Amino acid sequence: MIFGFGKKKDDDFEEEDEIELISFQGPHNGETIDLKANAKLLDAGLLPAKEIVTDAILRRADMVRIDPKGDRSAIYLIVDGVAYPGDRLSKQEGLAVTMTMKLLAGLNIKNRTQPQTGGLNSSLEGKKYEIVVESQPLETGGERLNIKLRDLAVKLDSPAAIGIPDSIKDRLRELAGEKKGLFISAGPPRSGLTTTSLALMKVVDVYILSVYSITDMSNRDITNVTKFDVNPNDSLETTLQRIIRVDADFVFAPPLRSVETAKTLLEYQSQLALLTEMPAPDAASAILQLVKLVGDPALVANGLKAVVSPKMIRLLCDECKEAFRPNPKIIAKAGLPAETKVLYRAPVAEEGEELEPCPKCGGIGYYGRSGIFEMIEINDDIKKLITSGAANVAQIKSAAKNAGMPTFKDGGLAKVAEGKTSLEELQRLFKS
Ligand SMILES: [Zn+2]
Repeated sequence: MIFGFGKKKDDDFEEEDEIELISFQGPHNGETIDLKANAKLLDAGLLPAKEIVTDAILRRADMVRIDPKGDRSAIYLIVDGVAYPGDRLSKQEGLAVTMTMKLLAGLNIKNRTQPQTGGLNSSLEGKKYEIVVESQPLETGGERLNIKLRDLAVKLDSPAAIGIPDSIKDRLRELAGEKKGLFISAGPPRSGLTTTSLALMKVVDVYILSVYSITDMSNRDITNVTKFDVNPNDSLETTLQRIIRVDADFVFAPPLRSVETAKTLLEYQSQLALLTEMPAPDAASAILQLVKLVGDPALVANGLKAVVSPKMIRLLCDECKEAFRPNPKIIAKAGLPAETKVLYRAPVAEEGEELEPCPKCGGIGYYGRSGIFEMIEINDDIKKLITSGAANVAQIKSAAKNAGMPTFKDGGLAKVAEGKTSLEELQRLFKS
């Protein structure tokens, strides 16, 4: 266990008093919480809930998970996408915290058999945090709780901030300039997908193109992207017709979740460029998923322009990373440039030695993440593969590689060569 959750309890009282706890400021859905009727629950759950969430934020966690396990509740902190076990609570404490967080997020605490999602505003040390609470009923009984945390001051929507390389930015700007075609940003959940889409919106040349959004941008405002006033009763088709009338060139459209959305976007891509999101493990899989969804390979081959897919890679902590001289065989095997003389890694303890935890990263060895990206552009070879209707992921990937399109591996190795991440992190990322 890296994080000493329980440690706070051993500290003397004076020190504990100095820790400011998070303040919860009401659910997103605007519901008023009946504090009086729930006084008993809040009495048991509010303080531990505040302690858990405060601790998670101070340790830079993007999520806390509370899992009932037998007569205990286990807490996990997800930091930069990796889960670390935290303290264990008794079953009663775990239940009280779970119910309290549900109540504060405006969820129905009596309903324990259906998944629910809600959000609440909060602040800690003058900074605002958005908290999203998800409850999931478990087959074994009880509920799992995910508490997602987002620092509202952190803006990760610029292409540079999430690490989109110039090669991808330049090419996308060129393609978007043609003012037609469907662009997809594809990735698994929590891979930085929305962040990537928002960054891609910034890549296009806003001085030449008029850029609009007709979908939810997760409450983020982007300079030069106009939020189009969508009539909630209009179909996607009607909205697209309306936006064509205002001379939109590039439009951020709703995610590709249904056949209708996919077909409509493919039909309208000849009149304006469209960017959409799709849950998929990688770019090649997204293309085949889309073919399967619409059932018309030629429609996809002719309408799709490019797919960009992100993966988040952890960056080494610059306070404690260790330089080492890599073995030339390892350099060659990894595919790094032969002239690579120095690489970096997280500190490794010698046998029998115990490392003093780094004050910056708490002994994790990594601090923060950056994106690495692959992009598949639909060139003639890939168009043929798609139209054949029989292509597989490996064939599309190899056609993209042969054409020199950027791969995840290129992006990851570039970060290793720059000393920003380690070969171990690259291996971890591609194993999962
Ligand atoms: Zn460190």
